[in-house]
Amino acid sequence: MCYNKFMDNIKYIDAHAHLFDLNCNLNTLNLNNVSKLIIASYKEDNLITTLKLCETNKNYFACLGIHPQYFSDYNEKTKNFIKQNKNKIVGIGEIGLDDRFDNFSLQVDTFEKQLQLAQELNFPIVVHLVGSYSFNKFFEIIKNYNVQGMIHCFSSSLENAKKMLDMGFYLSFAGNLTYKKNVNLQKVATFVPLSNILLETDSPSMSPSGFGRAKNNTPNNIVFVAQTLAQLKNLPLQEIALITNKNATKLFNLDK
Ligand SMILES: [Zn+2]
Repeated sequence: MCYNKFMDNIKYIDAHAHLFDLNCNLNTLNLNNVSKLIIASYKEDNLITTLKLCETNKNYFACLGIHPQYFSDYNEKTKNFIKQNKNKIVGIGEIGLDDRFDNFSLQVDTFEKQLQLAQELNFPIVVHLVGSYSFNKFFEIIKNYNVQGMIHCFSSSLENAKKMLDMGFYLSFAGNLTYKKNVNLQKVATFVPLSNILLETDSPSMSPSGFGRAKNNTPNNIVFVAQTLAQLKNLPLQEIALITNKNATKLFNLDK
């Protein structure tokens, strides 16, 4: 892999990573391609881990929430934990819906409770959506909430992308955009205006093309997502970085 080919001074905001799950020493991890990092929790166990990690670096920002796979972790205790720490976070996530997991109606219930929380605390949401039931349900219920946010690791159709754009949501692209076979997603990314795009790694999962599934995906690999997007849009990397960084800064209010 010609990693050095992309090693330049451009720094990106990684809009979604679970850095605490990386299988390496975080103190010696040199994130030289990344200026800022949005770190999201996904279950009760890593709510506090996320906050603690963000205290170690001023460029790490926390989102707290419960992923649909762990919907039962959302309860009064975890809700209160998030509320009590609202001054330490920039968003609610990772929350959402996923057709692959059981108890869809309970997932919806937990998702709606967290939408209410995001609305009450005035935070953007970081949404995980997988499968057609999930997208349809999302479009059905999101109208009832006054929230903004990002669809993380967007991997759906152009039609669903258009609906998201109509509602002002950001679409965040990850390592799967780099897969040669992922032509449909590349068409979506070509269509979506750069003003609505975020870049992410979803570290340690979602390694870009050429890294294999077993590799530990670090936020530095965001350059490969950016490179693919630059090629698709026929734009210089500098512009990709400038605009996507601006988008993340605005959505998560990182300049405050
Ligand atoms: Zn994630």
